Amino acid sequence: MHRDQFLLPPGLVYLDGHSLGPLSHVADRRVRALLRSEWGAQLIRGWTESDWIALPQRVGEKIGRLIGAAPETTLCADSTSVNLYKVLAAALALRPGRTEIVSTSDNFPTDLYIAQGLIDQRAHGHALKLVEAADLAGAIDGNTAAVLLTHVNYKDATLLDMAGITAQAHRAGALAIWDLSHSTGVMPLRLEEWRVDFAVGCGYKYLNGGPGAPGYLMVATQHHANVTQPISGWMGHARPFAFDARYQPAPGVARYLAGTPPVLSMSALDASLDITLGEDIDTIRSASMALSDALIDNIARVCSDPELVLASPRDAALRGSHVSYRHPHGYAIVQALAQRGVIGDFRAPDLMRFGLNPLYNTSLDTECAAQALAEVLASRAWDRPEYLQRNRVT
Ligand SMILES: *Cc1c(COP(=O)(O)O)cnc(C)c1O
Repeated sequence: MHRDQFLLPPGLVYLDGHSLGPLSHVADRRVRALLRSEWGAQLIRGWTESDWIALPQRVGEKIGRLIGAAPETTLCADSTSVNLYKVLAAALALRPGRTEIVSTSDNFPTDLYIAQGLIDQRAHGHALKLVEAADLAGAIDGNTAAVLLTHVNYKDATLLDMAGITAQAHRAGALAIWDLSHSTGVMPLRLEEWRVDFAVGCGYKYLNGGPGAPGYLMVATQHHANVTQPISGWMGHARPFAFDARYQPAPGVARYLAGTPPVLSMSALDASLDITLGEDIDTIRSASMALSDALIDNIARVCSDPELVLASPRDAALRGSHVSYRHPHGYAIVQALAQRGVIGDFRAPDLMRFGLNPLYNTSLDTECAAQALAEVLASRAWDRPEYLQRNRVT
């Protein structure tokens, strides 16, 4: 749709936007201008003259529109992991007497680690109850404080029913926290309508904010005044520049800020977001489903290796925007594909993932990727010692 708005190296088939979105021309221009005419020229005055101080709210509102959140409920701040810590702690405080956090055993590890760390630290007898996605219904009960789930599974792209599970959590008196890292930017979301209590997500994947771009959080309006989040830093104070010795949380969602925003990377995210916001999100979703279907069809047509197995749902309506395949030599295959200019990624033990963002991916990408995969499999080009050597980042 907007491939010319991204700086993708010519000839590269980039199917890894679910891990790191590419550099956009607007982000490139914004950061360059910011360096020279804001940081370089304005120095400390940039906080006021370029309104850096309001970036978390400004960028938060843009993301809020993408996820269908109510106005003034979304902030851009910190990493997804840190934001999750803040909102999970707030959720537990809102449900005293309930001791369980329900999640899925295949949830993204950082989500589970954050929950485990918070439980250990609080020592209030909380427990993390992990179940298969299919067993969620039976796991949510009167002892559930919060349901903590990722909307699109990072491994196989399976989509959970956010509206249905949130309603079920509420019927049991529990709160619903959703991680939108693999959803925002590639599909319509209606967090306000679905009555989601808290949400977090990632800025550097489908939102193209750049490596280490800050994440975001959403706190439904009815929870704003009732709790204070645990990282009670000065940016979330009612009057940060009063330099009061005593913490007093800001009204509204602003209390979920902690420290000074990363102006450079938040501005890159801000700039890139306009590309997604300039497109109709239902159109993006239709194009994403068509592209992932095309990839699956093309691979089925040209690849005959019996060890290659589709791990994602075959029905696009049940899938996010990436497609995963199992293969016992998945890691080496992903390396061999990269050598041929087709970039996907690998998740242990045997998953190859190929992400599709209609903003810059085309059906030609799906044909080239399928063809390269067929060649790598047929020639066993993956079977080389250098492809078996695991890098620190996969
Ligand atoms: C990518 C991702 C994260 C990343 O968290 P960071 O704190 O940015 O490292 C968290 N949760 C999910 C579900 C993800 O896919």
